[in-house]
Order: sequence, then structure tokens, then C-alpha cells
Amino acid sequence: MSVRLRFNLILVGTFLLGLMGSAAYYEREIGRSAREAVESEARLQMKMAMAVRQYIIDRVDPHALASAAGDDAFAIGAVPAFAARETLALLYRDYPGYRFREAALNPTNPLNRAVDWERALIERYRDGSARGDHVSVTEDLSGRTLHVARPMTVGDAACLRCHGDPAQAPAAMRALYPGNGGFNWRLGETVGAQIVSVPFEVQTRRANAAFKDFLIALAGAFALLFVALNVLLSRMVLGPLNLANAALDRLADTDALTGVHNRRSFDRRLQEAISAARRGKRPLSLIALDIDHFKQINDRFGHETGDDVLKQACAAVDQRLRQHDTLARVGGEEFVVILPDTQAGNARRVAEALREQLAKAVVGRASPVTASFGVTQWDGQEASQALLARADQALYAAKRGGRDRVEAL
Ligand code: GH3
Ligand code: MG
Ligand code: MG
Repeated sequence: MSVRLRFNLILVGTFLLGLMGSAAYYEREIGRSAREAVESEARLQMKMAMAVRQYIIDRVDPHALASAAGDDAFAIGAVPAFAARETLALLYRDYPGYRFREAALNPTNPLNRAVDWERALIERYRDGSARGDHVSVTEDLSGRTLHVARPMTVGDAACLRCHGDPAQAPAAMRALYPGNGGFNWRLGETVGAQIVSVPFEVQTRRANAAFKDFLIALAGAFALLFVALNVLLSRMVLGPLNLANAALDRLADTDALTGVHNRRSFDRRLQEAISAARRGKRPLSLIALDIDHFKQINDRFGHETGDDVLKQACAAVDQRLRQHDTLARVGGEEFVVILPDTQAGNARRVAEALREQLAKAVVGRASPVTASFGVTQWDGQEASQALLARADQALYAAKRGGRDRVEAL
């Protein structure tokens, strides 16, 4: 697996872990703040309902109205519960799912009869196991709803005019609500609960939109980071590393003295040349060459002059070769040239040209320098060692034949 792939896998893995962690945290926080928002909204609505009730009691004075109009008069608009319910119903026209209710165990208006969970809560208020404002959440097909409830207790004897003895109740009220509900309440008795209900939907939608924005921002930040880190990786690590590796490869394949291919590189290139020739059914030839009496050059002019001759000889040979030929130093003063796409006849002509070139090109105290050449063509199936051995045999034939000559095998 490449360094970049491994790096990016770790990066993406870390991001996904971080994303899951922060998403879980953020979702919890968002859920908590959505609930807080819904609850504070519901409490505000409750205060509003209570304010309307208080307004009716303080300013409209339903009992005074009733007395003024005669015992049988019943102004329903001046009933605090009715006024509060109607005002909030007006308000809630544009807020689906919002509701204000005065649920009672024994209501005047049958619509106000407590349903199961309301009844259970009122019973708890009555037996003292619940007190004051009570918050609960219910869930149905339309979603989750938060309810804030408070106990409804008969606090004023005046209430009993309508809710005490049915015989005392205004006839108009009895006509409006012909059932027998809403009577025999007692002073101090908890008869029901006022309940404000606010759906989660709006806040949930808002929270989900915020969560989506958060995820998009996070993914965007990661994408930027991903690109930036990859650019940094390329510029500061992989680029220099690749350059250094290429330089090392070149160094490992190069003969330090002459700059041509070394034995290691030669072995590989010969394998490759044989494979290519086999695949393409193309000819392939080798020229082995060895400088004549090189030991004497060293002995007479010194090792440094010998080195200089080696360098000049390589430069001279290299100059005559094609781009895709390979010149390698395989021993002290022994070289091999790989000639792809070349028949033995042409290889022989190249070797002759090299021989002449070498004799002319090497200058200095050791000049003239000659070399012997062995030429051979790959037989189409043999292994590299056999081919090289035959080139060597040709070379030694040239040596035996008097040096400064080309022999082919
Ligand atoms: P022949 O004509 O039969 O090839 O004789 P030769 O003297 O060229 O061959 P021989 O194998 O006897 O000697 C090769 C010499 O090359 C011996 C060795 O000291 C010398 N030599 C090998 N590598 C280097 C090198 O890197 N620099 C120098 N200056 N001499 C080297
Ligand atoms: Mg020699
Ligand atoms: Mg030799």
C-alpha cells in the first residue's frame, strides 16, 4: 500500500471517528436546546393564558356583570376559562399543534373532560403526589408534543355560583350546557388542570437544519484539510523522497568512475532486453570489449592515467551508440554493449566503428589505446549467461588473434 493511500486512510478514518463523536455530541446538545426552547415557549403561553384569566377576573368582573343583568343572565365571554381558551385559540390559528386546555374531571363543557393522561395527572394533583407546574412529553403520529400543566383549584367562593349547587347556576348557562357536569365543586378542591401543549416540530426542524449546516461545515473543513495535507505530503515528503530515491537508484546503477551502467544495472538490462526481444521476436546483439594491455598502461603511467583512459574510452564508445543501446562496465577494463534490434552483421560493423573511434579518441600519455571486441547475436532462446559467455569467447578469440580487432561468434 502506498504511503499516500495509507496516510489518506488514516486521515479519513480519524475524520470519520471525529465526525461520529462530534455529531453525537452536537445532536445531543441540539436535542437538549430544542427541548429547552419548546419548554420555555410553553411556559410563556401558560403565563399568557393566566394573564387573560386575570384580566377577566380583575377588569370584566363576571359576577358583577351577572348581577347587573339579572340572575339568569350568563355572559359566556366573561367566563375566565372561556376567555383564556378563546384568546389562545385565536393566537394558535397560525400555529398548528399548539393548544391550551382546561381539562377537568367533571367539566361543564363536555369537550373539557380530561383524557387518560390528563386524568392521571389531575388525580396526582388531588392526592398531593404532584404539585405546581408539571412538564411532560407525549408522542403520536404527528410527532412529539410538550405539555406544561398546572393544577386548577377552586380558590374563590364566587366560582361556586356556577359550579356549586346546580339549582343556583344561571339558567342561561344550564341552557348552553344542558348536561349535568361542572357542579358540586368544593372550595379548595383541585378539579382539573390547565394545560399548554407545544409541538416539537418547529424546533426540531430548526435543530435539524442547524445540524445539517454543522455537518456541511465540518465536511467542508475536512475537505480543505484533506487537500492541504495532501499537498503538504507531496511537497514536503513524497516529492523530495521520490527525488532522493531516484537519485539513489541512479547511484546504485552507475559505475562511479566512468558514469556508465555498472554490473548490477547491466544484469537487469540484459534480462529486460532478452524479454523484449523474445516478446517482439526481434534480434539482439552484444559486444564485449576489453582494453588491450591495460596493465601496462597502469604500470608505465600510473593508476590515475589508467583511470583517465577508462573514462575517455567510455566517453568515446558512448558517443557512437544509439539512445537505446546500453554500455556497461562489467569488470576492471571490460565493457559490454547491449544492442537491441540489431543483427550480428550490424553489431560487427558497430564494433569496428567503436574500435576505430577508441583508437582515435583516447588522447594523452597512454595514447594510442586499443581494445579487442567480441560480437555475438542472441540465438532466440538462450539465457543471458550463455549469451554473455559467447560474447566473452569471441572477445578472447580477438585477443588470441592479436588484439585491436573484432571477432564474432
Ligand atoms: P589484455 O590485453 O590481455 O586484456 O591485458 P590487460 O593488461 O589489459 O589485462 P589484465 O587482466 O592482465 O589487466 C587488467 C588490469 O586492469 C589489472 C588491473 O589492475 C587494472 N584495473 C582494473 N580496474 C582498474 C581501475 O579501475 N583503474 C585502473 N587504473 N586500473 C584498473
Ligand atoms: Mg585488458
Ligand atoms: Mg581484462
